[in-house]
Amino acid sequence: MMRRRPAKSFLPTTAVLEMTYRCNHECLFCSCPWERVDGDFDIREELTPERWKGIITKLCDLGVSSIAFTGGEPLLKAGILDIITHTSGCLTERVDTVDGELISETVPPSLYLLSNGLLVDQDILEFCEEHSVTLSMSLPGLSTYTEHTGRDTADTVLRNFGLAKELGIRTVANITVTRKNFFELRRTIAAALIAGAGQVLLNRFLPGGRGLGYAEDLSLEPENISELLATAEDVLSKAGKYGSLGTEIPVCLADPTEYSSISAGTQCSAARQFFVVGPSGHVRVCNHSEVRLAHIDAYEDLKLDPYWNTFTQKRFMPEECRGCGERFRCDAGCREAAHITGGSVDSRDPLMRDCIYPS
Ligand code: SF4
Ligand code: SF4
Repeated sequence: MMRRRPAKSFLPTTAVLEMTYRCNHECLFCSCPWERVDGDFDIREELTPERWKGIITKLCDLGVSSIAFTGGEPLLKAGILDIITHTSGCLTERVDTVDGELISETVPPSLYLLSNGLLVDQDILEFCEEHSVTLSMSLPGLSTYTEHTGRDTADTVLRNFGLAKELGIRTVANITVTRKNFFELRRTIAAALIAGAGQVLLNRFLPGGRGLGYAEDLSLEPENISELLATAEDVLSKAGKYGSLGTEIPVCLADPTEYSSISAGTQCSAARQFFVVGPSGHVRVCNHSEVRLAHIDAYEDLKLDPYWNTFTQKRFMPEECRGCGERFRCDAGCREAAHITGGSVDSRDPLMRDCIYPS
């Protein structure tokens, strides 16, 4: 059993780096805050590759040991391969407890590329192989793929999972589950696995960004959550694979401990296990967050930032959960989706809007 210790600094050990605001998909469910119609999240000047490289070196010095490149679409960032190559040559101290003993290793950070898959070709795949990059590609449905993304390239993504498998690249099929594609969730997971995807990451649709404008069409119902988990469990167990639901759920909607092939988070990991650096270099607690905090150059300011500390100290529980015996393992769903739809981080998760809470 291996557990990872906190980073050398107060920063979480995983950094999600948004390389660019730009994207070549037009996903209905996109939660990037700058895509929100009539939103306040302005687009600022993007960091240059040279600036990113300096920041990444510093993050590794601070004990960040997992780095995910995302966007927008990260492959649209000029110099992205140069940035990743630089990152693969960095070293960081990773401290784990193995069977109760502290083990410290100086290693390159683990690398993840989160892409929509449109620009992934043989060169990109060989690059991922060479630099040990885990490649995540989006697959939000099969027959509904085009309706969700504005592109007709589901087959390309599936083919790339196969090619990646041949090269021995670790891959993740990233499936955003919406009301529109819920009916084909079983087929979508199966298609990804048959094509060669190594793992499946499900994300329930969260209102935010562009998706806020489509919330009525895309939002799941509370009762969908246990069905989603049961469907994933069934497909994954038959395939002998493992998956996860990446967007936290309230325990009173479904108890993840009842499933063995799919794991689901119930506790918000924003600012505790990961943090985000946006295209301009400003920190956010989660990619779903609309709240821009200090620039990463001034990361020490986060220690005294009330919003950052709301998440590190978990001061965000809804009134309705007061007294619930599950609070030790449940953060009542997504705290940023609650913020966006309810006006404050301690609002109800949008899935729970009309629920009667256990007393
Ligand atoms: S009442 Fe709140 S804390 Fe309790 S299980 Fe439901 S969402 Fe979680
Ligand atoms: S803000 Fe929401 S999506 Fe982000 S880590 Fe917390 S619960 Fe998960």
